[in-house]
Amino acid sequence: MKHDFAVIGAGVSGMTCALILARYGYRVALVEKAGRTAPLLRGFSRGGVHFDTGFHYTGGLNEGGPLDILFRFLGLSDHVTSFPFDEEGFDVFRCVREGFEFRFPAGYESIRERLIDAFPEERPAVEAYLRAVRADYDSAPYLNPGAPSDAGGAFRKIFGPTLSETLDSLTGNELLKCVLSMHCLLYGVSPEEVPFYQHACIAGGYYLSARGIRGGGRSLASGFDARLEKLGVDVRCGNGVAGISVEPGGGLRGIRLEDGTELLCGGVVSTVHPRSMLEMLPAGAFRQADKRRIGELEDTVPAYMLFSVSDLPVPSLEGRNLFVFPDIDRIKDLGNGPLSHSPLYVTAAYETAGGAPRGFIGIIPSKEESPPFKREIVARMEGIVRMYCPELGGALGHTEGSTPSTLRHFGNSPSGGLYGVKHRVGQRNPGPMTRLKGLYLAGQAVTAPGVLGAALSGFVACGCILGHDRLMKELRGCR
Ligand SMILES: Cc1cc2nc3c(=O)[nH]c(=O)nc-3n(C[C@H](O)[C@H](O)[C@H](O)COP(=O)(O)OP(=O)(O)OC[C@H]3O[C@@H](n4cnc5c(N)ncnc54)[C@H](O)[C@@H]3O)c2cc1C
Repeated sequence: MKHDFAVIGAGVSGMTCALILARYGYRVALVEKAGRTAPLLRGFSRGGVHFDTGFHYTGGLNEGGPLDILFRFLGLSDHVTSFPFDEEGFDVFRCVREGFEFRFPAGYESIRERLIDAFPEERPAVEAYLRAVRADYDSAPYLNPGAPSDAGGAFRKIFGPTLSETLDSLTGNELLKCVLSMHCLLYGVSPEEVPFYQHACIAGGYYLSARGIRGGGRSLASGFDARLEKLGVDVRCGNGVAGISVEPGGGLRGIRLEDGTELLCGGVVSTVHPRSMLEMLPAGAFRQADKRRIGELEDTVPAYMLFSVSDLPVPSLEGRNLFVFPDIDRIKDLGNGPLSHSPLYVTAAYETAGGAPRGFIGIIPSKEESPPFKREIVARMEGIVRMYCPELGGALGHTEGSTPSTLRHFGNSPSGGLYGVKHRVGQRNPGPMTRLKGLYLAGQAVTAPGVLGAALSGFVACGCILGHDRLMKELRGCR
């Protein structure tokens, strides 16, 4: 059977593309190298506790928020139930050396008030910062299907200003700058490098509303599976794509799978890491300059992770995350230092059957020069948790860990980077269109990391195929 489109990779972006194309009547093959769709979202269970690996919480899932609209369009809303994180403090910032804690409440106005309470001298800086975040968030295409398109956003993503430059222009207060930069951990790029625009489009969604999904990433994966089946997408797992084949005249022919099967198709959407996509193409398919640019793309920080099962409930993490910084300077070189000098992100792990948190996940972005054995990493991370989060000491039970090579082997990141390719000032990430007619790109490298970023990348790629106006019009109908 000839397919109209083959989508490479069944992560959020690939499943999104497959659903959109199938909705418009195309015959779609969705090809995933892992044994099941959405391997990053499914996580794993130990001792009755489920550990999410690629999804903990998100912005934009409030009623009428961008992810809520995209989910409605994709038919996922009947399959996933979201819940708000603690509206009085969904993210807790802790700076150990400075002995300072700040809780982010839900909503711009509440954040404004709480920041001014904590930094009364900094009212103008706080207000200007939140205004700037809001302006960029509200003008981004697809985040706001009703807004006029803002072509300047793409420009600001490459040329800046960076988050640091923006904050430096507003205040000299290093502690405040650190608080406002802490969400860098959600996209793995330091404030010195991340475009302010990109930061605003991600952090702005969490400021408005931070929500989780009942059952975590695996519920979202099941919702996608149900919709893929319903729309008749030909899902093929456990047999990855080895190559993208091209006709002798240069047109796209189809894809070759690892077992040698060839699928003929009129178009391909690749959602894998752009360097992996390059390896699938025949030598002359892209110009040397494009290959060099893709080959040189910098990845986000690598990370070490700790998974702990607790004998007792962990109420302090119910609907709440901890962002711990040994000192305010640690945000600047995000992930470039050793474990003990890096920030720590902690989130809850819930009982497998649902219910209260009974464990936690710790993530430390770090570039250890010579990565030690996993057991040693686990012991060091346990020590860091005891030192910086004494309230979690009693929640340390059976522990396991993962290293950047885990992300390399099981994720979609050749260098072990937490969120694939960086979005940084000065780096031109690939767009959805390529020089090979019929080959489109989606995925976290193209738009932004996160479930929202990956889903958006699917819409942007399909907008290039179907027409952005057409897609946008339908999205507006889902508001
Ligand atoms: C530890 C961690 C925590 C995270 N926490 C959150 C969070 O709380 N909230 C949030 O919104 N986001 C979070 N993210 C980010 C989010 O999970 C990702 O940005 C998003 O899922 C990426 O989706 P994607 O489709 O772009 O890529 P992927 O999910 O990586 O999809 C690409 C797919 O391609 C497959 N593939 C690779 N090579 C081939 C091949 N040759 N043939 C066929 N298939 C192939 C891969 O197996 C993979 O399934 C987290 C990520 C990590 C790593």
